[in-house]
Amino acid sequence: MLPCPECGQLSMIWVTGDCTLLDGTVIPNLKRLQCTSCREDFFDHYAMGIIEAHRRKISHKDADIQKRKEYNTEVV
Ligand SMILES: [Zn+2]
Repeated sequence: MLPCPECGQLSMIWVTGDCTLLDGTVIPNLKRLQCTSCREDFFDHYAMGIIEAHRRKISHKDADIQKRKEYNTEVV
């Protein structure tokens, strides 16, 4: 088991569930490492990939809305 990078305790466990990121983005059912001592979340490469994909999906949605606004007359 690895010590927690934040508090140094050997209390990292795998948890799965909705995860709220620092910017308020909620990733549903994300498996990540969590420190039971300081409650800090840590993400491995797999979790990072899920977060990145989720962010892309969100920004695409925003971009689509923006595009539709800009080209409203041409699209329809
Ligand atoms: Zn900790």
